[in-house]
Amino acid sequence: MMKQLSDYSCAYARQLDQEDALAKYREEFYVQPGVIYLDGNSLGLLSKRAEASLMELLDSWKQYGIDGWTEGTYPWFYLSESLGEQMAPLVGALPEEVMVTGSTTVNIHQLIASFYKPDGKRTKILADELNFPTDIYALKSQLKLKGYDPQEHLIEVQSADGNLLNEEDIIEAMQEDVALILLPSVLYRSGQVLDMERLTEEAHKRGIVIGFDLCHSIGSIPHQLSEWGVDFALWCNYKHLNGGPGSVAGLYVNKKHFGNAPGLAGWFSSKKEKQFDMNHDLTPADTASAYQIGTPHVLSTAPIIGSLSMFSEVGIEQIRHKSLQLTQYMMDLIRHELSAYEFTISNPTEDDKRGGHIYLEHPEAARICKALKDEQVIPDFRAPKGIRLAPVALYNSFEDVWESVQILKKIMDGELYKNYKNERGVVA
Ligand SMILES: *Cc1c(COP(=O)(O)O)cnc(C)c1O
Repeated sequence: MMKQLSDYSCAYARQLDQEDALAKYREEFYVQPGVIYLDGNSLGLLSKRAEASLMELLDSWKQYGIDGWTEGTYPWFYLSESLGEQMAPLVGALPEEVMVTGSTTVNIHQLIASFYKPDGKRTKILADELNFPTDIYALKSQLKLKGYDPQEHLIEVQSADGNLLNEEDIIEAMQEDVALILLPSVLYRSGQVLDMERLTEEAHKRGIVIGFDLCHSIGSIPHQLSEWGVDFALWCNYKHLNGGPGSVAGLYVNKKHFGNAPGLAGWFSSKKEKQFDMNHDLTPADTASAYQIGTPHVLSTAPIIGSLSMFSEVGIEQIRHKSLQLTQYMMDLIRHELSAYEFTISNPTEDDKRGGHIYLEHPEAARICKALKDEQVIPDFRAPKGIRLAPVALYNSFEDVWESVQILKKIMDGELYKNYKNERGVVA
């Protein structure tokens, strides 16, 4: 925890940057001159290491052709497994429990197809009303595929204020007719961190399988999935992990489930040594590797190699420490500088409940975001009135935070946002 802030000067921001052990990593990223990028929770920036690993895999294709599957520094045939092993510490799992494969949405389908086993009266899936739409769409279609009406079989835990979930309400909803639970680790709007350990324990007490969507926590906060006994998890690698637009995603399956056949099988679900037997009876891998489907998207995986090397070097604890400092500093400055305006800090403010971004609400949020962008501060708007601001540990500075709050103040003082329409763009 930082001390109560009393110095609101730019000089103090610079002093914090000088004391920051991670400051040197900013150089490793393509941070555009003059731009303050605060959208790393939506699409992380390109690093030089990610660019280099992409070029290296492109080169392996150039050099080896078909033999790239087994030759070169990163043989493609084992890439999903080797990156899973490297990523495992970020989620607190065993190397063989993590796989870099698929996309977030495809992995939701795969894991629900594998873990949702309605049985007798236990037919329902429990989620929450604040969940990301794709997660809900996937759950509804999985229910329909099994012949159930989502209206009746999908339970969405309600939020009291539209921003936060209460763990007590979730536990209350873990009734006898629930077969499976899928929840976010960090809510994509408010940035609330759910108590995954407690929820897992409560679900298991009631014989319910539980999984988490880690899209907004991977690379931002530590996890102990194995220790907590979480059954499965999935995430994307293009947000805090900076793997690039559409980069291949990740999944985790607890080793107690190893040896089961995947819900959606393909030839990459095979035991490696059996795969090229071309047998029509699948022998699934006895690790999380079984949840792969087809040929890995090698070029969309490649940047993750370089990007991940920084996370391995720094460690997630240090990243979380700086991230909390940055978001605390941002909240302190917002309270101090913007108290005259109608902003509400709608993310949880406690360290253990706050994810990697700040969620500010304001009735004019859509056009305030447009004004910020024109001032070279990149936020991210979430309808109807949310502004997400993510100062990222590896490439944002304390001065970035200071400067962006000053710019926001300038926009409010001068009513500059009134030059824009209060509506969202097609991509927001
Ligand atoms: C970003 C995000 C997704 C994205 O899914 P894709 O399949 O990568 O498009 C899904 N769920 C959550 C919670 C997200 O934050």
